[in-house]
Amino acid sequence: MPEGKIIKALSGFYYVVNDGTVTQCRGRGIFRKNKITPLVGDDVVFQAENEQEGYILEVKDRKNELVRPPIANVDRAFLVFSSVEPAFSPALLDRFLVLVEYNHIEPIICITKTDLASESELGEIEQYASDYRAAGYEVVLVSSETEAGIEQLHPHLEGKISVFAGQSGVGKSSLLNVLRPGLELKTSGISSHLGRGKHTTRHVELIEIGDGLVADTPGFSSLEFQEIEAAELGACFPEISRAAENCKFRGCLHVKEPKCAVKAGVEEGTIPPYRYENYLDFLQEIKDRKPRY
Ligand code: GDP
Ligand code: ZN
Repeated sequence: MPEGKIIKALSGFYYVVNDGTVTQCRGRGIFRKNKITPLVGDDVVFQAENEQEGYILEVKDRKNELVRPPIANVDRAFLVFSSVEPAFSPALLDRFLVLVEYNHIEPIICITKTDLASESELGEIEQYASDYRAAGYEVVLVSSETEAGIEQLHPHLEGKISVFAGQSGVGKSSLLNVLRPGLELKTSGISSHLGRGKHTTRHVELIEIGDGLVADTPGFSSLEFQEIEAAELGACFPEISRAAENCKFRGCLHVKEPKCAVKAGVEEGTIPPYRYENYLDFLQEIKDRKPRY
């Protein structure tokens, strides 16, 4: 039986691509029985009825599943932040990074609108970029206006399913338009295709860019740490997780415990203080969510 990937779901049909051809498939009753709803991004086994139509027989195990947009097996998230307009926010970036790490999605930090930033603003951005690179993240600086830096993004799209995430107005649509000429998504904040309001139909499609697939709807619209436990948070900060190997106590949460290697790292300057503060803020948020004993 042929296998393929769902690139679009619409009106009860799943569009399955295999070897460059698209088959319009229906799900069989089996999904209702097993309560599996096929999602865009799913790898499936299908049976072709003729050249254009078929049935999905089986949905393969998923590596992850986003709720908004509803999409499975996301490999990469381009976390899009503008250097200015709106100003770069490490607190919001760290929030995205935690959620992405937690979902086993590889992040690429993408800082846009470099053409609008002054020299001193760019200097500040470069400092942040070097902190995040030292933590282990990939950071690219780009301008959709001048196309500076854009070519660095293509290799990260190859062979993957990617989502673009970030606040409205940071330049996600503009970036996709530059990455795929002819796409022509509407730009400029909330009225754009990518930033549409939550009352419109939830519909997501994977579009081809080079050899990769990209969701045409931004990911991680909800940024709450609903499922993350306090003990799991440190693992979502690579430099904190590395330092934590040398904490005296197993299960150290790096708050007030003695002989904590993370606090020592902050004092020595190997862990940026703002990263540690964001960690503490998120930890508090997670603790506040739980009933207290
Ligand atoms: P989205 O809401 O994240 O999809 O953001 P848009 O792509 O709609 O961009 C918001 C506004 O910023 C639009 O007016 C774009 O023209 C502008 N913009 C986006 N990227 C850049 C850039 O790199 N340089 C400049 N100068 N403007 C940009
Ligand atoms: Zn510690």
